[in-house]
Amino acid sequence: MVHKEKTWYVIGLYFIRIGIEIERVADIPEALISIASKYKASVQRDVEHCEDNHGTCAGRDIWLGRFDDPGIETVAFFHELGHVLSSEIVCKRGRTMTKLSSEGLAWELGLGIAFEHGYEWDRDGPVMIWAREQLKTYCSYKNCR
Ligand SMILES: [Zn+2]
Repeated sequence: MVHKEKTWYVIGLYFIRIGIEIERVADIPEALISIASKYKASVQRDVEHCEDNHGTCAGRDIWLGRFDDPGIETVAFFHELGHVLSSEIVCKRGRTMTKLSSEGLAWELGLGIAFEHGYEWDRDGPVMIWAREQLKTYCSYKNCR
C-alpha cells in the first residue's frame, strides 16, 4: 500500500514536468493572428518543424518557432506575411529575379504591413539588426543568380 502511494507520487511529478515544458512555449499573440486573418492567412506555432527564432510559410499558412524576443517574433511574422503577399505579386511571372530579391521583397512588403499596423522598429535596434542579419544569410552567388 505504501509502495503504491510512492508510485503515484512519481507519476504525478512526471506530469507536472510536462506541464511546465508546454507553458514555456508562448501562444502566438492575438494581434498577429488578427493581422494574418486580414490577409486571409493563418499563423501557428510549430516548434517541431521550425528552428528556434525562425518562421516559415507555405501558401497562406505561416508557422513560427520558439522565439527568445517578442519583437523579433513580430518582425519574423511580418516577413513571412510578406512572403505570402509577394507570391501573389510575382505569380504572374511565376518567379522573382533571384532568391535574394525574393527575400528582400518579402522583407519590404512585410515591414510595410507592419508599419500600417503601428509596428516600427529603430533601424539600429536589435530587431532590425536581426532582420538584416537574416537577409544577409541569402547574400551568396547561388542566391543572386
Ligand atoms: Zn524569407
